[in-house]
Amino acid sequence: MPSNKNMFSNYKFTAAERFLRYVQIDTQSDPQSSSHPTTEKQKNLSKILAEELKQIGLADAHMDEWGYVYATIPSNTNKDVPVICFCAHVDTAPDCSGTGVKPIVYKNYQGQDIVLPDDHLQVLRLSEYPYLQTQIGNDIITASGLTLLGSDDKAGVAEIMDLANFLMKNKNVKHGTIKILFTPDEEVGKGTAKVDLKKLGADFGYTLDGGDAGSLEDETFSADGVQVIIHGVIAHPGYAKGKMINAMKIAGEILSALPKDRLSPESTEGKRGFIHPVRIEGVAEKCTIDFIIRDFETAGLKKKEDYLRTQIEELLRTYPKASFEFIVTEQYRNMKEVLDMHPQVIEYAKEAIARSGLTLKMESIRGGTDGSRLSFMGLPCPNLFAGEQAIHSKLEFISVQDMNKAVETMVHLIQIWEEKS
Ligand SMILES: [Zn+2]
Repeated sequence: MPSNKNMFSNYKFTAAERFLRYVQIDTQSDPQSSSHPTTEKQKNLSKILAEELKQIGLADAHMDEWGYVYATIPSNTNKDVPVICFCAHVDTAPDCSGTGVKPIVYKNYQGQDIVLPDDHLQVLRLSEYPYLQTQIGNDIITASGLTLLGSDDKAGVAEIMDLANFLMKNKNVKHGTIKILFTPDEEVGKGTAKVDLKKLGADFGYTLDGGDAGSLEDETFSADGVQVIIHGVIAHPGYAKGKMINAMKIAGEILSALPKDRLSPESTEGKRGFIHPVRIEGVAEKCTIDFIIRDFETAGLKKKEDYLRTQIEELLRTYPKASFEFIVTEQYRNMKEVLDMHPQVIEYAKEAIARSGLTLKMESIRGGTDGSRLSFMGLPCPNLFAGEQAIHSKLEFISVQDMNKAVETMVHLIQIWEEKS
C-alpha cells in the first residue's frame, strides 16, 4: 500500500464550496413530463458541470442533448485496471420546492436546535434526527425553511467534482481510467432513460447518493407492477336484478380483503416486501386496479403475485359471470443479483470506507435506484454514501465533513482498484 496517510493534509477540499453554488440552481424534475430531460432547467446545472470539469482539466467533458454529462479522468498507471465510473444525479425531488434555495452553513455545530430563518416552524432537533449526534463540532448546511436543500443528489455531484479536482492536482495518486457521469431525472425514475453506456465505457460504477458517512448500499427491492382488470356485467339499473355484476364493487372487495397487518407498506420495514394498490379507475362494467409488488427476492415477488391472484380467483367464484385479467410487468430487480457476480465491487468499497476511518454500515434500499437499473444494463453499480440527511424535506441537512469523507473514500477506492489489478 502506498504511504498516503497525509494525502489530504495539504489539500483544500472544494466539495462544500461547489455544493453551496449548485444547490442554488433549480433542477427539480417533473413526473408528468414526457420530454428528456423532464425539465429543461436541469441542463442549467449540467452545462456548468461540464464547463467546470473542462476547467479542472478533463478535456472530453461535455453535456449531451439529453442533459447527461460525461467526462474522463485518464489513467496514470501502467497496470490494466477496470474502468470505474462515479455517478450522481443533478435533479431534485418533485415532493418539495427547489426554487430559490438559500443554503446556510452552521459552523461548529454544538447540538443546539436549528430554527430555519424563513419558517420558524421548521426546526432541526437532535432528538428527532439522532444522526446529528455524530456531527458535533462539524459544519452543518441546511436550507432556509421554504425549500429542500438538494443534497440529494447535489452532494454526490459536488463530491465527484471535487474528486476530479483532487486527482488533477495530485497526479502521484495512482489510478486507472475514471469515468464521470451526471444524469437528469433520477427522482422521477428516468435517470437511465437516455444514458449511453457504450459511450461511457465503464466496467463498474458507484452512485454517490447515500446517507450516513460509511454507509454502502448493495441491495434494492425487486419490483413488478400488476394490473388487475375486472370485467363485470352491465344492465339497466332499473332492471338489473339477478343480472348486473358491478366491477367497482368487486374491486372494493379485493382491496378490503388485502391484509392490513402484513404485506403492506404501512405494516412492513427492513427486508419485508408488500402488495400495494397505487391506483384505481373504473365504471360498473369494468374496473382496473394497479398494484406495485415489492420484495428483496425475485422469488418473493412471484409468491406475492400468486397470493394476490389466488385471492381474486377465490372471490370471483362468487361471481361466475364476472372475469378478470392479471397482467404482470417487470419494473426492476435487486441489484444484489448482479453485484454477487462481481464481489470485488463491494469488497473494495468496504475497504475504502475503512481506510477513510469510518465504520461500515451495510444498508438495503426499500426502493429502486438508478444503480439497480444500471446494474442490470451491464454496469454493476452499488450506492456509496454522500452524506445526505432528511432528504426530500425542508429539514434536509448535510455536513461539510461528511462530504469531504465521501471524496476521501472515492480516492481510496480508486487506489484500491489500482493496487489489486
Ligand atoms: Zn438521490
